[in-house]
Amino acid sequence: MGEQYADVIVDISHEKLDRPFQYRIPDSLKGRLEPGACVLVPFGNGNRMIKGYVIDVGDKCKFAPERMKVIAGIADKNVDVTDKMVALAAWIRKNYGSTMIQALKTVLPAKQTVRKLEKRYVETVMNREELTALLGESLRKKQTAKVRVLQALLEQEMCQGSAGKSAECTAAESTGTCIPYEWITGKLNVSAATINSLIKAGAIRVHITEGFRDPVQHSVQAAAVQSGAEKKKLSADQQHIVDTVLQDLDTGQRKTYLLHGITGSGKTEVYMELAEGVIRRGRQAIVLIPEIALTYQTLMRFYRRFGDRVSVMNSTLSPGEKYDQCRRAKEGEIDVIIGPRSALFTPFPRVGLIIMDEEHEGSYKSEGTPKYHARETAMEVARLHGACVVLGSATPSMEAFYRAEKGEYVRFTLKERLTGGVLPTVYTVDLREELRQGNRSIFSRKLQELLADRLQKGQQSMLFLNRRGYAGFVSCRACGAVMKCPHCDVSLSEHRNGTLMCHYCGYSIPKPRQCPKCGSKYILGFKAGTQQIEEKLQELFPGVRTLRMDGDTTKTKDSYEKILSAFANEEADVLIGTQMIVKGHDFPKVTLVGVLAADLSLAANDYRAGERTFQLLTQAVGRAGRGELPGEAVIQTYQPDHYAVVFAAAQDYDGFYEEEILYREMGGYPPAAHMLAVQIFAKEDESGAQLAKQLADTVKRNGHQVLGPTPATIGKINDIYRYVFYVKKTDYGQLVEIKDRLEEMIFPMQLRKEQVQFDFDPMICL
Ligand code: ADP
Ligand code: ZN
Ligand code: ZN
Repeated sequence: MGEQYADVIVDISHEKLDRPFQYRIPDSLKGRLEPGACVLVPFGNGNRMIKGYVIDVGDKCKFAPERMKVIAGIADKNVDVTDKMVALAAWIRKNYGSTMIQALKTVLPAKQTVRKLEKRYVETVMNREELTALLGESLRKKQTAKVRVLQALLEQEMCQGSAGKSAECTAAESTGTCIPYEWITGKLNVSAATINSLIKAGAIRVHITEGFRDPVQHSVQAAAVQSGAEKKKLSADQQHIVDTVLQDLDTGQRKTYLLHGITGSGKTEVYMELAEGVIRRGRQAIVLIPEIALTYQTLMRFYRRFGDRVSVMNSTLSPGEKYDQCRRAKEGEIDVIIGPRSALFTPFPRVGLIIMDEEHEGSYKSEGTPKYHARETAMEVARLHGACVVLGSATPSMEAFYRAEKGEYVRFTLKERLTGGVLPTVYTVDLREELRQGNRSIFSRKLQELLADRLQKGQQSMLFLNRRGYAGFVSCRACGAVMKCPHCDVSLSEHRNGTLMCHYCGYSIPKPRQCPKCGSKYILGFKAGTQQIEEKLQELFPGVRTLRMDGDTTKTKDSYEKILSAFANEEADVLIGTQMIVKGHDFPKVTLVGVLAADLSLAANDYRAGERTFQLLTQAVGRAGRGELPGEAVIQTYQPDHYAVVFAAAQDYDGFYEEEILYREMGGYPPAAHMLAVQIFAKEDESGAQLAKQLADTVKRNGHQVLGPTPATIGKINDIYRYVFYVKKTDYGQLVEIKDRLEEMIFPMQLRKEQVQFDFDPMICL
């Protein structure tokens, strides 16, 4: 075997990640080192032995061979948190495709250059009598600054009794009365010189505690304390889940569980009980939520139960706050972290449990490189720690349910809503029929009638505009026909040159002038915004009080919470919004939900369209009648017979799954098979198309079937042209091999104007 070399990163702080050092691999280690391996290497002039991480192995020597140092050995088996994170990065790199550096930057905690947050306190050393004597002396000498300090210290002590220690100051070694240093220099306007002279006189000392930036807002802390920590007695079904999972954990059986239960069936209560069980065993819990906007409510409940042992981690935190949460996690100061998918990378020493709430949500898949999915990544984190994973959802993803059916996950079902409330009555309205009856409004007659009724009764309504995947699809307003690909069973999308195209197989036709089915000329791309709906509603019901929630109205940090609480306080009659409004928060006063165009997501041009539509409709419908009053829901659709609409209206998950899995199996789509999307981005159309073809041809030449390449649905964004092709396999490993091959091919090309990305089991098809 020829010489082998390894790129090694010796310092895992973000700054230095870009500078790997190359080492020669000794014969004894040849073939044994993979990216992620932890090795000992000589470093610097003194050849000090330090720990490093292999990020790449190859046979090319990048420096003078005679000067290259040799890897000394594999670091001991005693893996610490950082080693686990690096191993995780290696796994992500392998399974999702990225460079090791990109993967490391994804998993490693915030920069380590952040200043530690220190708090300084002035503490009394003298007893009360001595202090009083000193105060008298200072008064006589008219040392007014000293007087202010001593008075403050004496007053403070009086308020606190003889124990004297300030509640704020948590330093273990402090015994006297403490006042924050900045308060004395600021509020009391006392100079450092005065403080120093008091120190010299033996009256006080200054001590420093390391504080942390606390991202759990005071509002949460206050609200949580007010409402107290009432712990529910679990139902038999809930208890069974908790007992089973904890028993498995105790007997060393590491499993993934799927908790299928409608909203309000007590899943969160189960999560908290499980977290408590895990904490009791000296381990930590990661609680994943799909969106930052949903942090508040989950955090509140956990905070009530676990207090300061809970924290949050997400992208709205400052680097300092992130750094501090990582440090607290590492040092065992917190037991539970709550956050979106990136919270998976909290450097806990010994994770025992990972909870993934609303497991079906698309936001669990990263859209940046590496495009990792939190579900599989959570399972890998769990493997590294010997932890278990609990997935929870009212409408489990096809993936999770399929795996549970196959026995790979353990499934539990919670059927009843614990706080009462019955499922709403659902009316499905055929929009084609509305047009035929001369109603061109965006509100069907049934919806208008029920809205009027609610306004008159002073009850609240929600209007939901299903906008997912509306980009580019074309349908007939008269008969509802959606232009579809005859080969792929997905809708065609409108392209920049005016043609309709299938982006899976490249099939394309000129945009028809008439509906091929009914001949109507009302054939258009569907576009309607929440603002338009709001205007129409005002026209129909002058004076109606509305609130609007969509991407535009929720740009600032707490606008989401503000809109929702305004609605909860009944400051509006109708809340209009996109999919954002179907999640989180209970509104007991809402007795009507209207879904304005259920089909929009159905027509989306990818294989998950039916699943997404079912999930959204089920969630939307389920928002009506959460309180004591019974609810109603209206689903407006051009496809009243579509199984996703029918099963959502019936709130029948199992029925939907049966139908959908058939479609996936026949089409060879996930979860029945796996799919790799190879995405090509290029500054020039020509070169992008060429590269896409070259890569696709290589895959074909190796005997694999390829779909495409075609321009992406949105063929150009910001002057970057986008191409895509797909490979389907039942074995994920085979797709990883194809990806590896392509990476090997792309690397020496040193692309400058093009970029290639991999997306496994894509959530969004370009
Ligand atoms: P989910 O997470 O499935 O939506 P939650 O855990 O939020 O459900 O429970 C819904 C409601 O039922 C909450 O108000 C919760 O406090 C209450 N609840 C849950 N479990 C119990 C229980 N065992 N006994 C009484 N109330 C419960
Ligand atoms: Zn038609
Ligand atoms: Zn097609």
